[in-house]
Amino acid sequence: MSTPDRKPLYRRVLLKISGEALMGAREFGLDPAIVSRVAEEIKQVHELGVECCVVIGGGNIFRGIAGASQGMQRASADYMGMLATIMNALAMQNALEQIGVDTRVQSAISMQSICEPYIRRRAIRHLEKRRVVIFAAGTGNPFFTTDTAAALRASEMGCQVLLKGTKVDGVYSADPKLHPDAERYTHMTHHDVLTRDLKVMDAAAISLARENGIPIVVFSIHKPGNFAQVMLGGGKYTIIGDRPILAAS
Ligand code: UDP
Repeated sequence: MSTPDRKPLYRRVLLKISGEALMGAREFGLDPAIVSRVAEEIKQVHELGVECCVVIGGGNIFRGIAGASQGMQRASADYMGMLATIMNALAMQNALEQIGVDTRVQSAISMQSICEPYIRRRAIRHLEKRRVVIFAAGTGNPFFTTDTAAALRASEMGCQVLLKGTKVDGVYSADPKLHPDAERYTHMTHHDVLTRDLKVMDAAAISLARENGIPIVVFSIHKPGNFAQVMLGGGKYTIIGDRPILAAS
């Protein structure tokens, strides 16, 4: 993408994508074409000079709560969910490296032969060396979600914004697919999301982002070029936060 005259609004960001966003029209697993498209979106932002962290969910493969509802012990089921996020992280690493983006996967559950363990200072070093860092295995703890992992890692990495890449271009008053007249919000506070019980991210993630002063941007990851547009202050999105957008330093 040639945007030589425009500077991104942020220096370091964390992108959270759900596992389902990588499923495409399938009912399970990954659609390699979608993984490649999302990798291309990340590459465009990386090329703008933005340091990119990525957290990917695992809902396209396994959700702990589904296992628990079928009689599994919740903690074991959640560990399976965390393993699913590692598979997605490896798929994204592969897609990024195929298009020439240097990438590291760090997992909250040690799995030395396939990826690095999560080490905060090392992750920061990777970012400084212009590598995209994918954080896998969520928080490493059962009873949490990858939304919370995203807010946690964004806080630890000193990210200026947490981006939630979804199928729609922001937060709506109702599901826009079912209600074409639903209103899209452009700005709201973390408190609004919590008190109105809007299903943007889970409450633990929203609270953590709020406590650490991290705005959340909800945007469509499926619209080509949109991630880079949002980084440059364009595109359609909803921003959740109390402070104005930071300028890049
Ligand atoms: N998970 C967990 N702890 C974490 C993150 C994830 O136990 O810190 C498990 C949990 O079972 C969850 C699954 O991993 O259902 C997949 O993550 P998530 O549901 O957040 O994925 P997404 O909905 O974003 O695809």
